[in-house]
Amino acid sequence: MKNFDFHNPTKILFGKGRIADLNDHVPADAKVLIIYGGGSAERTGVLGQVRAALCDRTFIEFGGIEPNPRYATTLNAVQAIKDNDITFLLAVGGGSVIDATKFIAMAALYEGDPWEILTSGSSKVTAAMPLGSVLTLPATGSEMNNGGVITNPEKIAKLPFRSPHCYPVFSVLDPELTYTLPARQIANGAADAFVHIVEQYLTYPSASHVQDGFAESLLRTLIDLGPKSLETPEDYDIRASLMWTATLALNGLIGAGVPQDWATHMIGHEITALNDTDHARTLAVVLPSLLSDQRGHKYEKLLQYATNVWGINEGSDDQRIDAAIDATRAFFEKLGIKTRLSDYGIAAAEIELIVTALQEHGMTALGEHNDITPSDVRRILEASL
Ligand code: NAP
Ligand code: FE
Repeated sequence: MKNFDFHNPTKILFGKGRIADLNDHVPADAKVLIIYGGGSAERTGVLGQVRAALCDRTFIEFGGIEPNPRYATTLNAVQAIKDNDITFLLAVGGGSVIDATKFIAMAALYEGDPWEILTSGSSKVTAAMPLGSVLTLPATGSEMNNGGVITNPEKIAKLPFRSPHCYPVFSVLDPELTYTLPARQIANGAADAFVHIVEQYLTYPSASHVQDGFAESLLRTLIDLGPKSLETPEDYDIRASLMWTATLALNGLIGAGVPQDWATHMIGHEITALNDTDHARTLAVVLPSLLSDQRGHKYEKLLQYATNVWGINEGSDDQRIDAAIDATRAFFEKLGIKTRLSDYGIAAAEIELIVTALQEHGMTALGEHNDITPSDVRRILEASL
Protein backbone atom coordinates (compact mmCIF):
# COMPACT_ATOMS: atom_id res chain seq x y z
CA MET A 1 0.00 0.00 0.00
CA LYS A 2 1.25 3.50 -0.83
CA ASN A 3 1.43 6.27 1.76
CA PHE A 4 -1.68 8.42 1.80
CA ASP A 5 -3.53 11.26 3.51
CA PHE A 6 -7.22 10.66 3.95
CA HIS A 7 -9.44 13.58 4.85
CA ASN A 8 -13.00 14.02 3.67
CA PRO A 9 -14.75 16.98 5.31
CA THR A 10 -18.18 16.60 3.65
CA LYS A 11 -21.01 15.92 6.07
CA ILE A 12 -23.62 13.54 4.61
CA LEU A 13 -27.29 14.02 5.54
CA PHE A 14 -28.76 10.72 4.35
CA GLY A 15 -32.35 9.54 4.21
CA LYS A 16 -35.99 10.42 3.71
CA GLY A 17 -37.01 14.03 4.23
CA ARG A 18 -33.51 15.33 4.96
CA ILE A 19 -33.97 18.46 2.83
CA ALA A 20 -35.97 19.78 5.78
CA ASP A 21 -32.69 19.89 7.76
CA LEU A 22 -31.02 22.35 5.36
CA ASN A 23 -31.54 25.27 7.70
CA ASP A 24 -29.36 23.61 10.34
CA HIS A 25 -26.45 23.47 7.92
CA VAL A 26 -26.64 26.66 5.85
CA PRO A 27 -25.08 29.49 7.90
CA ALA A 28 -27.74 31.71 9.49
CA ASP A 29 -26.41 34.93 7.97
CA ALA A 30 -25.76 33.42 4.51
CA LYS A 31 -27.01 34.93 1.30
CA VAL A 32 -27.53 31.78 -0.74
CA LEU A 33 -27.40 31.15 -4.49
CA ILE A 34 -29.42 28.01 -5.31
CA ILE A 35 -27.93 26.53 -8.48
CA TYR A 36 -29.90 23.99 -10.52
CA GLY A 37 -30.16 22.42 -13.97
CA GLY A 38 -32.53 22.39 -16.89
CA GLY A 39 -35.83 22.18 -15.05
CA SER A 40 -36.13 18.69 -13.54
CA ALA A 41 -35.64 20.11 -10.03
CA GLU A 42 -38.63 22.40 -10.52
CA ARG A 43 -40.80 19.69 -12.14
CA THR A 44 -40.08 17.06 -9.49
CA GLY A 45 -40.76 19.39 -6.58
CA VAL A 46 -37.22 19.23 -5.16
CA LEU A 47 -36.76 22.97 -5.60
CA GLY A 48 -40.04 23.54 -3.80
CA GLN A 49 -38.79 21.48 -0.86
CA VAL A 50 -35.52 23.43 -0.83
CA ARG A 51 -37.29 26.80 -0.90
CA ALA A 52 -39.55 25.71 1.96
CA ALA A 53 -36.59 24.51 4.03
CA LEU A 54 -34.70 27.78 3.47
CA CYS A 55 -37.71 29.99 4.18
CA ASP A 56 -35.94 32.13 6.78
CA ARG A 57 -32.73 32.48 4.75
CA THR A 58 -32.05 35.01 2.00
CA PHE A 59 -31.63 33.27 -1.34
CA ILE A 60 -31.81 33.80 -5.07
CA GLU A 61 -31.78 31.17 -7.81
CA PHE A 62 -29.66 30.41 -10.86
CA GLY A 63 -31.03 27.72 -13.19
CA GLY A 64 -29.90 26.39 -16.55
CA ILE A 65 -26.77 24.38 -15.77
CA GLU A 66 -26.54 21.91 -18.65
CA PRO A 67 -25.67 18.19 -18.51
CA ASN A 68 -21.90 18.23 -19.11
CA PRO A 69 -21.92 21.77 -17.69
CA ARG A 70 -20.78 24.54 -19.96
CA TYR A 71 -17.98 26.91 -19.07
CA ALA A 72 -19.87 30.00 -20.32
CA THR A 73 -22.84 29.22 -18.06
CA THR A 74 -20.60 28.95 -15.00
CA LEU A 75 -19.22 32.42 -15.76
CA ASN A 76 -22.77 33.81 -15.84
CA ALA A 77 -23.30 32.35 -12.36
CA VAL A 78 -20.08 34.00 -11.15
CA GLN A 79 -21.47 37.32 -12.35
CA ALA A 80 -24.75 36.69 -10.46
CA ILE A 81 -22.71 36.02 -7.29
CA LYS A 82 -20.85 39.32 -7.65
CA ASP A 83 -24.02 41.27 -8.47
CA ASN A 84 -25.89 39.94 -5.44
CA ASP A 85 -23.21 39.64 -2.71
CA ILE A 86 -23.79 35.89 -2.44
CA THR A 87 -21.92 34.12 0.39
CA PHE A 88 -23.04 30.47 0.07
CA LEU A 89 -23.78 28.18 -2.91
CA LEU A 90 -26.34 25.37 -2.83
CA ALA A 91 -26.29 22.92 -5.75
CA VAL A 92 -29.58 21.10 -6.39
CA GLY A 93 -29.15 18.38 -9.01
CA GLY A 94 -26.90 15.66 -10.37
CA GLY A 95 -23.18 15.59 -11.01
CA SER A 96 -23.38 18.31 -13.64
CA VAL A 97 -24.95 20.84 -11.28
CA ILE A 98 -22.62 19.94 -8.39
CA ASP A 99 -19.50 20.01 -10.61
CA ALA A 100 -20.56 23.37 -12.03
CA THR A 101 -21.18 24.74 -8.53
CA LYS A 102 -17.70 23.69 -7.42
CA PHE A 103 -16.17 25.40 -10.42
CA ILE A 104 -18.27 28.52 -9.82
CA ALA A 105 -17.15 28.47 -6.16
CA MET A 106 -13.50 28.57 -7.26
CA ALA A 107 -13.95 30.94 -10.19
CA ALA A 108 -15.79 33.52 -8.03
CA LEU A 109 -12.67 34.00 -5.89
CA TYR A 110 -10.02 33.42 -8.57
CA GLU A 111 -7.78 36.36 -9.37
CA GLY A 112 -6.85 35.43 -12.95
CA ASP A 113 -8.76 34.02 -15.94
CA PRO A 114 -10.87 31.10 -14.61
CA TRP A 115 -10.05 29.07 -17.73
CA GLU A 116 -6.58 28.62 -16.19
CA ILE A 117 -8.16 26.49 -13.44
CA LEU A 118 -8.89 23.90 -16.12
CA THR A 119 -5.75 24.24 -18.22
CA SER A 120 -2.90 25.02 -15.82
CA GLY A 121 -3.91 22.66 -13.03
CA SER A 122 -6.04 23.57 -10.06
CA SER A 123 -2.99 24.08 -7.81
CA LYS A 124 -3.28 27.84 -8.40
CA VAL A 125 -6.65 27.78 -6.64
CA THR A 126 -6.18 29.02 -3.08
CA ALA A 127 -9.81 29.44 -2.02
CA ALA A 128 -13.41 28.67 -2.97
CA MET A 129 -16.77 29.83 -1.74
CA PRO A 130 -18.50 27.41 0.66
CA LEU A 131 -21.04 25.13 -1.01
CA GLY A 132 -23.54 22.46 -0.11
CA SER A 133 -25.52 20.09 -2.31
CA VAL A 134 -28.86 18.32 -2.61
CA LEU A 135 -28.15 15.28 -4.77
CA THR A 136 -30.87 14.14 -7.19
CA LEU A 137 -28.93 11.58 -9.25
CA PRO A 138 -26.67 8.85 -7.79
CA ALA A 139 -23.70 8.53 -10.14
CA THR A 140 -20.66 10.72 -9.94
CA GLY A 141 -19.67 10.95 -6.26
CA SER A 142 -19.33 14.70 -6.78
CA GLU A 143 -21.46 15.20 -3.66
CA MET A 144 -18.59 13.95 -1.50
CA ASN A 145 -15.41 14.63 -3.45
CA ASN A 146 -13.29 17.56 -4.55
CA GLY A 147 -13.32 17.16 -8.32
CA GLY A 148 -15.44 17.97 -11.33
CA VAL A 149 -15.49 18.30 -15.11
CA ILE A 150 -16.37 21.35 -17.22
CA THR A 151 -17.14 21.39 -20.95
CA ASN A 152 -16.28 24.17 -23.37
CA PRO A 153 -17.87 23.42 -26.77
CA GLU A 154 -16.07 26.34 -28.42
CA LYS A 155 -12.76 24.65 -27.71
CA ILE A 156 -14.16 21.10 -28.10
CA ALA A 157 -12.84 20.41 -24.60
CA LYS A 158 -14.15 18.63 -21.53
CA LEU A 159 -11.57 19.13 -18.80
CA PRO A 160 -11.31 17.89 -15.20
CA PHE A 161 -10.35 19.89 -12.09
CA ARG A 162 -9.57 18.91 -8.53
CA SER A 163 -8.96 21.12 -5.50
CA PRO A 164 -9.06 20.56 -1.74
CA HIS A 165 -11.16 23.75 -1.55
CA CYS A 166 -14.04 22.18 -3.49
CA TYR A 167 -15.48 19.64 -1.06
CA PRO A 168 -19.13 20.39 -0.31
CA VAL A 169 -19.61 21.38 3.33
CA PHE A 170 -22.62 19.04 3.37
CA SER A 171 -24.66 16.98 0.95
CA VAL A 172 -28.26 15.85 1.32
CA LEU A 173 -28.79 12.31 -0.01
CA ASP A 174 -32.49 11.44 -0.03
CA PRO A 175 -33.02 8.23 -2.05
CA GLU A 176 -36.66 9.17 -2.67
CA LEU A 177 -35.45 12.03 -4.89
CA THR A 178 -34.24 9.40 -7.36
CA TYR A 179 -37.75 8.00 -8.04
CA THR A 180 -38.35 10.58 -10.77
CA LEU A 181 -35.20 9.70 -12.70
CA PRO A 182 -35.67 8.25 -16.19
CA ALA A 183 -34.31 4.70 -16.59
CA ARG A 184 -31.55 6.07 -18.79
CA GLN A 185 -30.15 8.21 -15.96
CA ILE A 186 -30.34 5.41 -13.37
CA ALA A 187 -28.49 3.13 -15.80
CA ASN A 188 -25.92 5.84 -16.49
CA GLY A 189 -25.40 6.37 -12.78
CA ALA A 190 -24.83 2.69 -12.06
CA ALA A 191 -22.38 2.43 -14.97
CA ASP A 192 -20.46 5.58 -14.02
CA ALA A 193 -20.09 4.44 -10.41
CA PHE A 194 -19.02 0.98 -11.61
CA VAL A 195 -16.25 2.48 -13.74
CA HIS A 196 -15.14 4.80 -10.90
CA ILE A 197 -14.56 1.72 -8.76
CA VAL A 198 -12.82 -0.21 -11.53
CA GLU A 199 -10.46 2.73 -12.24
CA GLN A 200 -9.24 2.55 -8.63
CA TYR A 201 -9.40 -1.24 -8.16
CA LEU A 202 -8.31 -2.86 -11.40
CA THR A 203 -4.78 -1.46 -11.23
CA TYR A 204 -1.35 -2.90 -10.60
CA PRO A 205 0.66 -3.65 -8.51
CA SER A 206 -1.94 -4.49 -5.92
CA ALA A 207 -1.41 -5.15 -2.23
CA SER A 208 -4.31 -3.25 -0.73
CA HIS A 209 -6.54 -5.85 0.81
CA VAL A 210 -8.93 -3.51 2.62
CA GLN A 211 -9.50 -1.23 -0.37
CA ASP A 212 -9.91 -4.28 -2.65
CA GLY A 213 -12.51 -5.76 -0.31
CA PHE A 214 -14.50 -2.52 -0.22
CA ALA A 215 -14.24 -2.15 -4.01
CA GLU A 216 -15.34 -5.73 -4.73
CA SER A 217 -18.32 -5.36 -2.42
CA LEU A 218 -19.37 -2.11 -4.10
CA LEU A 219 -19.01 -3.68 -7.57
CA ARG A 220 -21.11 -6.71 -6.59
CA THR A 221 -23.74 -4.38 -5.15
CA LEU A 222 -23.99 -2.48 -8.44
CA ILE A 223 -24.16 -5.70 -10.47
CA ASP A 224 -27.04 -6.84 -8.28
CA LEU A 225 -28.92 -3.59 -7.66
CA GLY A 226 -28.33 -1.71 -10.93
CA PRO A 227 -30.80 -3.86 -12.93
CA LYS A 228 -33.13 -4.24 -9.91
CA SER A 229 -33.37 -0.49 -9.48
CA LEU A 230 -34.69 -0.33 -13.06
CA GLU A 231 -37.20 -3.14 -12.47
CA THR A 232 -38.60 -1.74 -9.19
CA PRO A 233 -38.00 2.02 -9.35
CA GLU A 234 -39.65 2.89 -6.05
CA ASP A 235 -38.01 0.27 -3.85
CA TYR A 236 -36.53 2.54 -1.19
CA ASP A 237 -33.88 0.14 0.11
CA ILE A 238 -32.57 -0.59 -3.36
CA ARG A 239 -32.37 3.12 -4.23
CA ALA A 240 -30.76 3.85 -0.85
CA SER A 241 -28.03 1.26 -1.41
CA LEU A 242 -27.49 2.44 -4.98
CA MET A 243 -27.14 6.03 -3.82
CA TRP A 244 -24.68 5.26 -1.03
CA THR A 245 -22.67 2.94 -3.30
CA ALA A 246 -22.23 5.70 -5.88
CA THR A 247 -21.02 8.08 -3.17
CA LEU A 248 -18.59 5.57 -1.66
CA ALA A 249 -17.28 4.75 -5.13
CA LEU A 250 -15.59 8.13 -5.42
CA ASN A 251 -15.22 9.79 -2.04
CA GLY A 252 -11.56 8.87 -1.60
CA LEU A 253 -12.13 5.81 0.58
CA ILE A 254 -11.35 3.02 -1.88
CA GLY A 255 -8.75 5.12 -3.70
CA ALA A 256 -6.57 5.82 -0.66
CA GLY A 257 -3.12 4.26 -1.04
CA VAL A 258 -3.80 2.48 -4.34
CA PRO A 259 -2.59 3.12 -7.91
CA GLN A 260 -5.37 4.81 -9.92
CA ASP A 261 -5.97 4.44 -13.63
CA TRP A 262 -8.52 7.05 -14.95
CA ALA A 263 -7.58 6.43 -18.61
CA THR A 264 -11.13 5.32 -19.39
CA HIS A 265 -12.49 8.61 -18.01
CA MET A 266 -9.98 10.80 -19.85
CA ILE A 267 -10.70 9.07 -23.17
CA GLY A 268 -14.44 9.15 -22.45
CA HIS A 269 -14.38 12.91 -21.79
CA GLU A 270 -13.01 13.51 -25.29
CA ILE A 271 -15.80 11.41 -26.80
CA THR A 272 -18.39 13.54 -24.98
CA ALA A 273 -16.62 16.73 -26.08
CA LEU A 274 -16.80 15.46 -29.66
CA ASN A 275 -20.47 14.47 -29.88
CA ASP A 276 -22.14 15.02 -26.48
CA THR A 277 -22.59 11.30 -25.72
CA ASP A 278 -23.66 10.74 -22.10
CA HIS A 279 -20.62 10.46 -19.82
CA ALA A 280 -21.42 6.93 -18.59
CA ARG A 281 -22.00 5.66 -22.11
CA THR A 282 -18.54 6.73 -23.23
CA LEU A 283 -17.10 4.78 -20.30
CA ALA A 284 -19.07 1.65 -21.20
CA VAL A 285 -17.57 1.84 -24.68
CA VAL A 286 -13.96 2.35 -23.60
CA LEU A 287 -13.62 0.16 -20.48
CA PRO A 288 -14.04 -3.35 -21.99
CA SER A 289 -11.53 -2.59 -24.76
CA LEU A 290 -9.10 -0.95 -22.37
CA LEU A 291 -9.17 -3.91 -19.98
CA SER A 292 -8.63 -6.29 -22.85
CA ASP A 293 -5.79 -4.18 -24.27
CA GLN A 294 -4.04 -3.73 -20.91
CA ARG A 295 -4.51 -7.32 -19.77
CA GLY A 296 -0.75 -7.99 -19.79
CA HIS A 297 -0.15 -5.42 -17.02
CA LYS A 298 -3.42 -5.99 -15.16
CA TYR A 299 -3.28 -9.80 -15.46
CA GLU A 300 -3.26 -10.77 -11.77
CA LYS A 301 -5.89 -8.20 -10.86
CA LEU A 302 -8.13 -9.27 -13.73
CA LEU A 303 -8.01 -12.82 -12.37
CA GLN A 304 -8.92 -11.51 -8.90
CA TYR A 305 -11.76 -9.50 -10.48
CA ALA A 306 -13.01 -12.61 -12.31
CA THR A 307 -13.14 -14.64 -9.09
CA ASN A 308 -14.18 -12.13 -6.44
CA VAL A 309 -16.57 -9.97 -8.45
CA TRP A 310 -18.00 -12.34 -11.07
CA GLY A 311 -17.48 -15.77 -9.45
CA ILE A 312 -15.71 -16.99 -12.59
CA ASN A 313 -13.48 -19.90 -11.56
CA GLU A 314 -13.64 -22.29 -14.53
CA GLY A 315 -11.24 -22.42 -17.49
CA SER A 316 -7.69 -21.29 -18.16
CA ASP A 317 -6.48 -17.95 -16.82
CA ASP A 318 -6.93 -16.31 -20.22
CA GLN A 319 -10.41 -17.73 -20.58
CA ARG A 320 -11.38 -16.43 -17.13
CA ILE A 321 -10.12 -12.95 -18.00
CA ASP A 322 -12.04 -13.01 -21.29
CA ALA A 323 -15.16 -14.13 -19.42
CA ALA A 324 -14.80 -11.33 -16.84
CA ILE A 325 -14.45 -8.69 -19.57
CA ASP A 326 -17.43 -10.19 -21.43
CA ALA A 327 -19.44 -10.08 -18.19
CA THR A 328 -18.52 -6.42 -17.74
CA ARG A 329 -19.81 -5.61 -21.22
CA ALA A 330 -22.95 -7.69 -20.61
CA PHE A 331 -23.60 -5.76 -17.36
CA PHE A 332 -23.63 -2.45 -19.25
CA GLU A 333 -25.84 -3.91 -21.99
CA LYS A 334 -28.25 -5.30 -19.36
CA LEU A 335 -28.61 -1.75 -18.07
CA GLY A 336 -29.58 -0.74 -21.61
CA ILE A 337 -26.22 0.89 -22.38
CA LYS A 338 -24.64 0.12 -25.74
CA THR A 339 -20.92 -0.59 -25.65
CA ARG A 340 -19.62 0.14 -29.14
CA LEU A 341 -18.46 3.47 -30.63
CA SER A 342 -20.54 2.77 -33.72
CA ASP A 343 -23.68 2.60 -31.50
CA TYR A 344 -23.13 6.33 -30.89
CA GLY A 345 -22.50 7.24 -34.52
CA ILE A 346 -18.73 7.40 -34.18
CA ALA A 347 -16.83 5.88 -37.09
CA ALA A 348 -13.17 4.95 -37.59
CA ALA A 349 -12.35 8.36 -39.13
CA GLU A 350 -13.29 10.15 -35.89
CA ILE A 351 -10.90 8.16 -33.73
CA GLU A 352 -8.07 10.40 -34.88
CA LEU A 353 -10.01 13.47 -33.65
CA ILE A 354 -10.29 11.90 -30.20
CA VAL A 355 -6.60 10.97 -30.09
CA THR A 356 -5.57 14.45 -31.27
CA ALA A 357 -7.80 16.14 -28.68
CA LEU A 358 -6.21 14.06 -25.90
CA GLN A 359 -2.77 15.14 -27.11
CA GLU A 360 -3.83 18.79 -27.24
CA HIS A 361 -5.02 18.52 -23.65
CA GLY A 362 -1.70 17.03 -22.52
CA MET A 363 -3.17 13.55 -21.95
CA THR A 364 -0.36 11.64 -23.62
CA ALA A 365 0.66 9.41 -20.71
CA LEU A 366 -2.47 7.85 -19.24
CA GLY A 367 -3.11 4.97 -16.85
CA GLU A 368 -1.85 4.10 -13.38
CA HIS A 369 1.75 4.12 -14.61
CA ASN A 370 1.44 6.90 -17.19
CA ASP A 371 2.34 4.45 -19.93
CA ILE A 372 -0.78 4.50 -22.13
CA THR A 373 0.33 6.52 -25.16
CA PRO A 374 -1.71 8.10 -27.96
CA SER A 375 -1.04 5.09 -30.18
CA ASP A 376 -2.31 2.79 -27.41
CA VAL A 377 -5.47 4.92 -27.19
CA ARG A 378 -5.92 4.66 -30.97
CA ARG A 379 -5.67 0.84 -30.74
CA ILE A 380 -8.11 0.74 -27.79
CA LEU A 381 -10.64 2.88 -29.67
CA GLU A 382 -10.27 0.83 -32.86
CA ALA A 383 -11.14 -2.24 -30.81
CA SER A 384 -14.22 -0.36 -29.47
CA LEU A 385 -15.74 0.34 -32.92
P1 NAP B 1 -26.39 15.09 -14.89
O1 NAP B 1 -25.76 15.57 -16.15
O2 NAP B 1 -26.22 15.86 -13.64
O3 NAP B 1 -27.97 14.91 -15.13
C1 NAP B 1 -28.46 14.17 -16.22
C2 NAP B 1 -29.93 14.47 -16.46
O4 NAP B 1 -30.71 13.96 -15.37
C3 NAP B 1 -30.25 15.95 -16.58
O5 NAP B 1 -30.99 16.10 -17.76
C4 NAP B 1 -31.06 16.27 -15.34
O6 NAP B 1 -32.10 17.19 -15.64
C5 NAP B 1 -31.70 14.93 -15.03
N1 NAP B 1 -32.03 14.75 -13.60
C6 NAP B 1 -31.21 14.89 -12.52
N2 NAP B 1 -31.85 14.52 -11.40
C7 NAP B 1 -33.11 14.16 -11.76
C8 NAP B 1 -34.25 13.66 -11.04
N3 NAP B 1 -34.18 13.40 -9.72
N4 NAP B 1 -35.37 13.38 -11.75
C9 NAP B 1 -35.43 13.57 -13.09
N5 NAP B 1 -34.39 14.01 -13.83
C10 NAP B 1 -33.23 14.30 -13.17
O7 NAP B 1 -25.93 13.57 -14.68
P2 NAP B 1 -24.76 12.95 -13.81
O8 NAP B 1 -24.52 11.63 -14.41
O9 NAP B 1 -25.05 13.03 -12.36
O10 NAP B 1 -23.51 13.92 -14.06
C11 NAP B 1 -22.73 13.81 -15.23
C12 NAP B 1 -21.60 14.81 -15.18
O11 NAP B 1 -20.77 14.57 -14.03
C13 NAP B 1 -20.71 14.70 -16.39
O12 NAP B 1 -20.28 15.97 -16.82
C14 NAP B 1 -19.54 13.90 -15.87
O13 NAP B 1 -18.35 14.10 -16.60
C15 NAP B 1 -19.42 14.43 -14.46
N6 NAP B 1 -18.69 13.55 -13.52
C16 NAP B 1 -18.17 14.11 -12.39
C17 NAP B 1 -17.46 13.34 -11.49
C18 NAP B 1 -16.88 13.94 -10.24
O14 NAP B 1 -16.14 13.28 -9.53
N7 NAP B 1 -17.17 15.18 -9.93
C19 NAP B 1 -17.30 11.97 -11.71
C20 NAP B 1 -17.85 11.42 -12.86
C21 NAP B 1 -18.55 12.21 -13.75
P3 NAP B 1 -31.98 18.77 -15.31
O15 NAP B 1 -30.80 19.31 -16.02
O16 NAP B 1 -33.27 19.29 -15.83
O17 NAP B 1 -31.86 18.89 -13.83
FE1 FE C 1 -17.45 9.43 -14.07
